[in-house]
Formats: sequence, C-alpha cells, structure tokens
Amino acid sequence: MHELGLTDALLRMVRDIAKKEELEHVESITLEIGELSGVVPHYMADCWQAVIDGTEYADTELIIETVPGIASCMDCDEEFRIDLNSMRCPFCGSHNLTPVSGRDMTVKEIAAW
Ligand SMILES: [Zn+2]
Repeated sequence: MHELGLTDALLRMVRDIAKKEELEHVESITLEIGELSGVVPHYMADCWQAVIDGTEYADTELIIETVPGIASCMDCDEEFRIDLNSMRCPFCGSHNLTPVSGRDMTVKEIAAW
C-alpha cells in the first residue's frame, strides 16, 4: 500500500509550502486522483488521517476529486472512458489501448492563509 508514502510526502510538501509562504493555517488540500493512477482515493483519505494525527495539520481536510481514466484504442482510434474491469475497447473489443488521461495524482489547490 503506497498511499501511506504518498500522504507522508504530501504532508512534507504542504509543510514546505506553508513555511515558504508563511501560512498560518492550512484549511484544506484538494487532490486530483486519476482512475488509472493506481492510487485508491479512500486509502488516501485514511492514510491522510493517520499521517496528520498529532501534527499542526490535524484539522486540515483532504478533498479528493477523481479524474476519469480516458484511453484511446490503437486499433480503431476511438476514445472512451476505460472500464477498469475489462480494460478493452468498447467499440472493437481490442486490448490494444493507450491511456490519454487519468494517470496522475496532482495537488489541485491548497486553501490556506
Ligand atoms: Zn477499438
């Protein structure tokens, strides 16, 4: 489960930013998690709670937005939202797919003052 490492890195990043920007309070962090990133949103939420417990960010809310996994088919050139259970093209049935979006996890917004 690499979510614990990710939330730990996220906390360090927020701490760095807060120090640099001289932020007093970090209200919330909005994360975008792609469906194809391999990151499980509810694990991220659980790990975040574990990582911030007892720190100065214990009240900081983690808001998670999911980005749909879009793929294109190498055989028929169609683009579609990928079905993670079948991983095949709904138009021609090919498994020859290339991910177009939804592979990343990014910090979209940090609400702070
Ligand atoms: Zn196809």
